Amino acid sequence: MTPHQKKFFNTPDDNIAIRLTGLSKTYNAQGVSDKKNALENINLQIPAGCIFGLLGPNGAGKSTLINILAGTVIKSSGSVTVWGEDLDKNPRQCKANIGIVPQELNIDVFLTPYESLEFTAGMYNIPRHERQTRAILEMVGLTEQSHAYARTLSGGMRRRMLVAKAMVHSPPILILDEPTAGVDVALRQKLWENVRNLNDAGVTIVLTTHYLEEAEELCDHVAILNYGKVMVSKTKSDLLKSAGRKDLNVTIPENQKKQPLPANIKALNPILTSNGFIIRFNPEETSSGAILKKIGDAGFKIVDVSTYQPDLEDIFLDLTS
Ligand code: ADP
Ligand code: MG
Repeated sequence: MTPHQKKFFNTPDDNIAIRLTGLSKTYNAQGVSDKKNALENINLQIPAGCIFGLLGPNGAGKSTLINILAGTVIKSSGSVTVWGEDLDKNPRQCKANIGIVPQELNIDVFLTPYESLEFTAGMYNIPRHERQTRAILEMVGLTEQSHAYARTLSGGMRRRMLVAKAMVHSPPILILDEPTAGVDVALRQKLWENVRNLNDAGVTIVLTTHYLEEAEELCDHVAILNYGKVMVSKTKSDLLKSAGRKDLNVTIPENQKKQPLPANIKALNPILTSNGFIIRFNPEETSSGAILKKIGDAGFKIVDVSTYQPDLEDIFLDLTS
């Protein structure tokens, strides 16, 4: 095991990969008197070993947060620790603990993927015998393209090339800002596979996205950011469970559709549909069975029922619109 690989297994004592405490950022727009809070008192803990999705509409502050971690934006206040290191006290170690895949597809068009990784390894002063250029290229599925001209690489390959570059110094944390923006569906799947493989190897993954499908598919933790504030941060399954609503869609016979609804059904605030009605309820308070019993007791024949539980997109819209 090389010293670089060892880091994967040295988890911080508190098992937190990234800890943000009271983090705020105000950009000083020149000539503009009202300052903008891009981030406002962010408290967030990203557990080591997870795939963490940072979601939010455009302008929510996702890139500002990532860029503070990358060291390209200076925070206004609050504290940041990365893999147990404080950003103010140990900025270099923080940087070493993170690999960042930027959103822009900037690659060195005059270098082959192999040369590009070797060059990056040189910049990190990684001794030749400790470099893992071939292994990294294999991990991102670019072995065949190792010696190809970079300009012949497709968009998806270029993105994977950037993932490879971010992993050259074997950081325990990999951060991807909008990794699949502009990447087509087939290549998106390939990239997700790479991300999963890295996570299986012990790398903590943080990604920002506005594709909810991506978060639903990949992430085990999700935080939703809006106007620079954390609206929610939970495991994905807790988030889906906590939505606090479920829809029961009831179809009734044709001849009962004109019948006025009795008071005990009206009390359930039904939404009328062409086939019957939908009753929205909180699964912590009642159940589909209890509601169906009330409907039956009120004299309705039930032709069909279906239930609908909100997905990540519904929750996202509830919290951000
Ligand atoms: P996101 O990545 O979620 O789309 P950003 O972090 O890019 O959001 O932006 C958050 C807010 O900060 C936005 O209102 C944006 O206009 C503002 N902002 C971002 N970068 C700068 C900057 N360099 N100068 C001034 N305002 C900025
Ligand atoms: Mg952004």
